[in-house]
Amino acid sequence: MHNIHTIAELRATLANIRPKTVALVPTMGNLHDGHLSLVKIAKQHADVVWVSIFVNPTQFGVGEDFDSYPRTLSEDCQKLQGLADGVFAPDIHEMYPTYPPNIHLTLGDISQILCAKTRPTHFDGVGLVVGKLFNIVRPDVAVFGKKDYQQLALVRRLNDEFNFGVRIIGGDIVRAPDGLALSSRNQYLSPSERQTAPFLQKTLRHIADTLSSAPFEAFATIIQNGKDTLNQNGFVVDYLQVYTQNLQPPSANDTHFVLLAAAFLGKARLLDNVEFVR
Ligand code: AMP
Repeated sequence: MHNIHTIAELRATLANIRPKTVALVPTMGNLHDGHLSLVKIAKQHADVVWVSIFVNPTQFGVGEDFDSYPRTLSEDCQKLQGLADGVFAPDIHEMYPTYPPNIHLTLGDISQILCAKTRPTHFDGVGLVVGKLFNIVRPDVAVFGKKDYQQLALVRRLNDEFNFGVRIIGGDIVRAPDGLALSSRNQYLSPSERQTAPFLQKTLRHIADTLSSAPFEAFATIIQNGKDTLNQNGFVVDYLQVYTQNLQPPSANDTHFVLLAAAFLGKARLLDNVEFVR
């Protein structure tokens, strides 16, 4: 497996690989089975799979966990042996020749809802780094997890509006046996919080089941009750909302919905979502 840190070396290596097709799986490292599932999906859609590992500073807000975010590059590379063809792990100056960057992206409506209410600059930073990675790697295919549902929608938007022409694929959420969505940030949970954490997914599933057979007018009350339940069980709900599956405000005529939540449990901010039809 290639392990490359510079853009020049990456471009030279990929030039030798083409015309084979290339899939990119962008990550911040500290890999778990959720990331590895994306690599396996990528392999089904391209000849070679590259994983980028970069803790992107521009997507972290002031006071967030940029400094303490777990960095485990050598373990990550071991996990990718036999699964990926290459790892691209640049440092900040390689990715941002000028840092802080002079260029800023504003991604519009979808970047201002849900997670953006608490993390207002997050998605503009994600858009910037994904745009850079698409320019550097020029992948045919890129795979992102549905765990970060809003991010996936924004990447699709970025890809369309910037004419990158990458095939974007969404990978299903990989969960622990008790239902908790795998996340590098789950390690911020204390043992007792870790016991409580799967209740988020259980509650989302229950609400989504109820919504799938409820009149649209009842949605607001059902969701408010769900929020109360979570808040009474140790969570501090950041948001619990329904959107259409392309993240537009829902209406009574829609059929494909997603219920999305972010909730604090101690220091950890857990994200989860459940798609449902009606
Ligand atoms: P991150 O390293 O957190 O930036 O995540 C890199 C990619 O892995 C993103 O596309 C995430 O949506 C995806 N991902 C993270 N956790 C999971 C999971 N539990 N299941 C599926 N994909 C995931």
